[in-house]
Amino acid sequence: MTFEPAIGLEVHAQLLTGSKLFCGCSTRFGAPPNSQTCPVCLGLPGALPAINRQAVTMAVKAALALGCRVNPVSVFARKNYFYPDMPRGYQISQFDLPLGEHGSIAVFSGERTDGGKIVNRREKTFGITRLHMEDDAGKSIHDGLPETETKSYVNLNRTGVPLVEIVSAPDFRSSQEAYDFVVHLRKTLLYLGVCDGNMEEGSLRCDANVSVRPKGTAALGTKVEIKNLNSFRFMQRALDYEIERQKRVLSGGGRVVQETRLWDESEGRTFSMRSKEEAHDYRYFPEPDLPPLRLDPEWIAGVAAELPELPGARMKRFMSDYALGADDALLLTSTAATAAYFEECARESANPRAAANWVMGDLARALKNSGGEIEESPVTARELAALIRTIDSGEISGKIAKTVFEEMVRTGEPAVDLIGRMGLRQVSDEASLVAVIDKVIAANPKQLEEYRSGKTRVIAYFVGQVMKETRGQANPRMVNELLERKLAGGST
Ligand SMILES: [Zn+2]
Repeated sequence: MTFEPAIGLEVHAQLLTGSKLFCGCSTRFGAPPNSQTCPVCLGLPGALPAINRQAVTMAVKAALALGCRVNPVSVFARKNYFYPDMPRGYQISQFDLPLGEHGSIAVFSGERTDGGKIVNRREKTFGITRLHMEDDAGKSIHDGLPETETKSYVNLNRTGVPLVEIVSAPDFRSSQEAYDFVVHLRKTLLYLGVCDGNMEEGSLRCDANVSVRPKGTAALGTKVEIKNLNSFRFMQRALDYEIERQKRVLSGGGRVVQETRLWDESEGRTFSMRSKEEAHDYRYFPEPDLPPLRLDPEWIAGVAAELPELPGARMKRFMSDYALGADDALLLTSTAATAAYFEECARESANPRAAANWVMGDLARALKNSGGEIEESPVTARELAALIRTIDSGEISGKIAKTVFEEMVRTGEPAVDLIGRMGLRQVSDEASLVAVIDKVIAANPKQLEEYRSGKTRVIAYFVGQVMKETRGQANPRMVNELLERKLAGGST
């Protein structure tokens, strides 16, 4: 029997507000422990929450960008459970009536070959079941060896920081689809400026639900939730492991147990953490300290009108406007800054293909080496475009351009100045090229003999000698033409 997986994701994204969801405390990361707290986020008796308007705006932006219907009325609910770093004893979340529902996004997703290459990238649509707002718990740190002198610390700076939880439909049929989705989702949140997407600092966290079922059947199998997925690559490895584990269980006639499992990256496997809790375990009820959140439809329309061009739309536009393939368009839209850089360079150079190659090739390598972002690139889009124009006009060769580019990266000087100063202009003057060619032919009678006896491939040797004589500055197209004429017996 063949099995197919059904994967759904739950992504928690921290909103980039300056203050917490229900109080005025700062959300700055890395402040001294417990320095960003107040009676509200400490859960002291009598302290009342008040909603952060900026957080609502950001959540609405995210919901709209994910194609969700934004509910004009949504309701906060208490989700009751105990965490030592959540002093209220409940989380304020949304349950029955979330902020956004019934969305979907189109993602260019591919298939991974055994060699790890991604092929057949094409557009697929994945459902977004819901997007709701909630506040975060704090952080516990455990120090020391188990069962010896272990100390635990609680830092409540993160307690009450605004999150959106985005729940996808169980639409992914491979770990690659889940990976491509979550990368696209992160990109979308970054384009919107509502989340910094930093997984190391925990501002983006991802849990996965996995089940497998016999291929061709409609009902979903028993699902297992996987937590502790600290990077998208870990997530993909955990999914691959879990899919295989469940297939083995089912093939062996066993039953998959509904549970929560943790991914252990060092061991490369998931292990059981606890049996899966159900919604009723949380004793949800409407939050009595907050009124329902009512949003004016006109205000929602205003937020929608101000959304930036999103990565999916931008990618498709790049593919049609600049004749790029999906893989290139995906790379060039990886951040809003990269996309803007490429577009300016493509427009200014009037050569989008060359602009794409430079941005993805030499520029990407230079930035990688310096560890800088494209926003701080020592070579501006305008200057890279100027360099491309000098190649296209025949002023310098593509090979020389690489040298010029390295100098541009090093010095930040404009291409035209460097080409002039370094004396790199391409030699396209026929008389001086003929002089060099005559000299090279005269110095190599043996190769000339070979050529005339029919070994015409030896022309490459002559081209090489001419390029050497001119320190790479001869116009290669002209050298080839002139050489062919001369070697064919023109005037020697
Ligand atoms: Zn506070």
